[in-house]
Amino acid sequence: ALLLGAVCGLLAGLLCYYVLTVRLRPGKEITLAIKRGQFYVVYQPVVESETMKIRGVEVLMRWNHPTAGEIPPDAFINFAEAQQLIVPLTRHLFELIARDAPALKKMLPPGAKLGINIAPAHLHAESFQQDLRDFSAMLPANYFQLVLEITERDMLNQHLAMKLFEWMHHEGYEIAIDDFGTGHSALIYLERYAFDYIKIDRGFINAIGTETVTSPVLDAVLTLARRMKLVTVAEGVETPEQAAWLREHGVNFLQGYWISRPLTLEKLQQAHREPAKY
Ligand code: C2E
Ligand code: CA
Ligand code: CA
Ligand code: CA
Repeated sequence: ALLLGAVCGLLAGLLCYYVLTVRLRPGKEITLAIKRGQFYVVYQPVVESETMKIRGVEVLMRWNHPTAGEIPPDAFINFAEAQQLIVPLTRHLFELIARDAPALKKMLPPGAKLGINIAPAHLHAESFQQDLRDFSAMLPANYFQLVLEITERDMLNQHLAMKLFEWMHHEGYEIAIDDFGTGHSALIYLERYAFDYIKIDRGFINAIGTETVTSPVLDAVLTLARRMKLVTVAEGVETPEQAAWLREHGVNFLQGYWISRPLTLEKLQQAHREPAKY
């Protein structure tokens, strides 16, 4: 019976492996999807809290899959990383942004920030610096300010991260620590690295304006940011109450559905023509 169990287990394992790697071939799918133009980007406005004027956009990737429909990035970025495909996928993203850049330039003020999410596997890839340089060369010269959005979990190799950050600043990129407050050693990282922005995770913003008291962690984060003279961006702002609270508490930039959903280039242009939207 034991042997039978072991054989069954093995067969089940093999079947699972077959389905995952041969039938679905996620790696091959991503490569094909790049070729077939199934990926596209959306842009989510980031506004200055004092004026509500647009100061930049965060670029977010989408996969329009022929049978599965819209696949959100949370579902394919990790896959791409595991399959060693994050570099080609991000290069593709860079091309998509470069293609939109002339149109973006018409809508956004000089110095507008383009927030790009960098996956940890890419940060640690050998080609990272060259990839960024190639991307910059594809954009209109001296117009946009690139902001690389990086999460805490990407900085496990502290020595490498420190050197990379130094290089990025030297090359004129800005760095945002993304999803701030959701990791473990956040405060230590703040001391150690020279971030330009902290993006406060939407989990903290959610709590504002509900019957529960505002998170003491959020209060602490804001106090700390002020004392360290860090520029703050609130993510996931969904109500005017939240926006008002954040403005009163000195948060510099706001991003979220209440300001604007992530928009395709066409929708962004439309919103630009009807500025009442912001
Ligand atoms: P993120 O960097 O934290 O991006 C913000 C996410 O919050 C986006 O989800 C955005 O659509 C969503 N969001 C914005 N405002 C609101 C709001 O008011 N309420 C709620 N509930 N959600 C809001 P999205 O586009 O599904 O992206 C999820 C994550 O996938 C991103 O989180 C980012 O970590 C990753 N990602 C997206 N695009 C890329 C990419 O091009 N490269 C890499 N490496 N990662 C990406
Ligand atoms: Ca981000
Ligand atoms: Ca985030
Ligand atoms: Ca996130």
